[in-house]
Amino acid sequence: MIVGSNSTNPPSLTIPSPAIAAKHATSTSDPAVISLIQHWLNTCSTSPSHKLCHQQLDHASTYPTRLIDVLPEGLPSSFWKLIEVQNEAITGPFMTLSHRWGAGTIKLARDTHQKMLSGMPLSVLPGAHQDAIKVVKSLNVRYLWIDSICL
Ligand SMILES: [Zn+2]
Repeated sequence: MIVGSNSTNPPSLTIPSPAIAAKHATSTSDPAVISLIQHWLNTCSTSPSHKLCHQQLDHASTYPTRLIDVLPEGLPSSFWKLIEVQNEAITGPFMTLSHRWGAGTIKLARDTHQKMLSGMPLSVLPGAHQDAIKVVKSLNVRYLWIDSICL
C-alpha cells in the first residue's frame, strides 16, 4: 500500500505505534527506542505466533564465563563491574553486545582484570558500551556480555 499526501487511505494499521514513535529517534537510548524494544520483547513472550521464542524463554538460562553487572551492589550507579559467573549466584536474563573493536576499546587483560572485578566508572568505556549499558538498564536487565570485556 502506498500512502501519499493525496491518498484517501488511512495509514496502515499493522505498524505498531512504538515503531512509529521510534522512527525519528537519533540515539539507541532514546525513550522511544526503548519502548520499541520493550514492545518486541513483549511480543516474543506473549504472542501465540512466537512459539519458538516461548521455548527459549522457558529454558533455564546458561551463562557465559564472565558477565558485566550493570547494577553492582555497593557501587555508585555510574559504575559497572565484571563478574566471574561461577563465583556469583546470578539469575535472570542477560543481553549481549558484539561490536567492532576500535583503538579505544577497553579489553580484558592482566592489567585490567582486577580493576574490572572491583568496578569501574562508565566513563572509561567507549560510547557504544555506555549506550549498551543504558539500554540494558532501561529494560530492567542486570547483566550484559560484551566480547572485548568478557572473553
Ligand atoms: Zn519472538
